[in-house]
Amino acid sequence: MREYFLQLFTGARSLLIGLGVTFRALFQPMVTVQYPRRKIEITPNFRGHTELVTDPESGTHRCIVCMMCEMDCPSSCIKVIGEKREGFKGKVLTGYQLDFSRCSLCGICVEVCPTSALCFSPEYELAGFSRTEFSFNLLARLEERT
Ligand code: SF4
Ligand code: SF4
Repeated sequence: MREYFLQLFTGARSLLIGLGVTFRALFQPMVTVQYPRRKIEITPNFRGHTELVTDPESGTHRCIVCMMCEMDCPSSCIKVIGEKREGFKGKVLTGYQLDFSRCSLCGICVEVCPTSALCFSPEYELAGFSRTEFSFNLLARLEERT
């Protein structure tokens, strides 16, 4: 009988403690948002997939097709495509393929780029049914934006 009342008391006590926590939380500011109706501001340090930066002066990308990012990527998920054109000193970028399904977001490509042509996008809502949906042509994406 003593054991029974002890368990009853312990249960009632923990219930009251739990209700106390809930009651106190009622008067505190909300820390959650009603996603997806409301969205939070993303921190500048957030790392989404890489993106080609739009140069404010030329209005296009800054890539000089040096291949540093492709050579240094530990996941081999970058394919830079360029071609020689008349009137241009180096190669001209014709495609920049990123297989984001293999990217570890290490940031090496962003760091090694000599012209700061890459940045991390603030994109955090990626979803898909197959790996191919995470293969991005960053040049095409840049042209869509501009
Ligand atoms: S962040 Fe790292 S893994 Fe991802 S593309 Fe750049 S170098 Fe490759
Ligand atoms: S390192 Fe920079 S400039 Fe070189 S190919 Fe990659 S994005 Fe282009």
